[in-house]
Amino acid sequence: MKLKVIDSKPTKMSFVIEETEPHIANALRRTLLADIPKMAIDDVEFHLGPIRGEDGKEYESVAPMFDEIIAHRLGLVPLPTDLKIFVRKQECKSCNGEGCPNCTIIYSLNKKGPAVVTSGDLEPIGDSKLKPVDPNIPIVKLGEGQAMLVYATAVLGTAREHAKWQVTTGVGYKYYPVVEIDNRKMDATKAPVEVCPVDILHVRDKKVVVEDVEKCTLCMTCVEKFDPGSIKVHGDPTRMIFHFETDGSMTANEALMAALDQLGKKYSDVAAKAGALGE
Ligand SMILES: [Zn+2]
Repeated sequence: MKLKVIDSKPTKMSFVIEETEPHIANALRRTLLADIPKMAIDDVEFHLGPIRGEDGKEYESVAPMFDEIIAHRLGLVPLPTDLKIFVRKQECKSCNGEGCPNCTIIYSLNKKGPAVVTSGDLEPIGDSKLKPVDPNIPIVKLGEGQAMLVYATAVLGTAREHAKWQVTTGVGYKYYPVVEIDNRKMDATKAPVEVCPVDILHVRDKKVVVEDVEKCTLCMTCVEKFDPGSIKVHGDPTRMIFHFETDGSMTANEALMAALDQLGKKYSDVAAKAGALGE
C-alpha cells in the first residue's frame, strides 16, 4: 500500500492510498475513528460546602447545572495528548494503576461567580503545557455568590469506550475518480461542460479535458448529459482519497501515525491467533 499526502494542515489532512482494497481502507477509517488513544477527563471531584474567596467573602459551591452534566462537559474538553509520554492507567508499570504523571493528568478548577467557567480555567497540576488546547469552551455559568472548586483527573482511553476519547472527526474516503473522455464521439465546442457541479470539465483547444480530477464526486451528471459513449466515469477500488480532521488533542499527522500503528498491531494479533489455530 502506498500513501501520498495531498493536503496537510495541523488538524486536517487529505491523502491518497494506492494499491489497496476497500476492506483495508475501511479498517483504516474505523481505526482512525475508534482506536487512537487520547487523554480525557474521566473523574471529577466536586468540593462541597462553602468556599471562601481571597477577599474573605463566602461563596456557595453550587452551579445552575447538575454535577453530572458539568463532569460530562469537562470530559469532552480536548486535552493535548503525547502518546510517547502517556500509557493507560491500568497498564502503567511505574504506579501499577495507582495514578502517576505517566498515566494521569490532574487539573484543578477554582472559579467564583458571577462568571462563565471555560475550559481555560482548568489548570494542570504540574506541566503547564497540558492546558486544554482550546481555552474558550464554555462549561457552566455561575451566578452571584456561586463558586466552583473541582479536581479533575484525565486518563488515556479510546473512542470505543466513550466518544470523549475520540481524536478524529469527519473521517471519510471515496474511490479515486477515473474520467475517460473520447473527443472523437462528440463536438467538444457544444459539450455541456457546465453541468459538472464541481467544475472540473473544461474545453481547451476544441477538446474536452479534465482538470483536478480528485474533486469529482462520481455524480454521473456528465455521463447523462454528454453524447452517449463520449465520457465514462467510474471509481477505482484500488485507490482511495481519504480525509479527516482532529479535535486538536494531537495533530492530524500524529493521529494518522497512531492509527497506522494500531492497525499494524491488530493485523499482527490476527496473524498470531490464526497461526495458533493452525498448530
Ligand atoms: Zn502511572
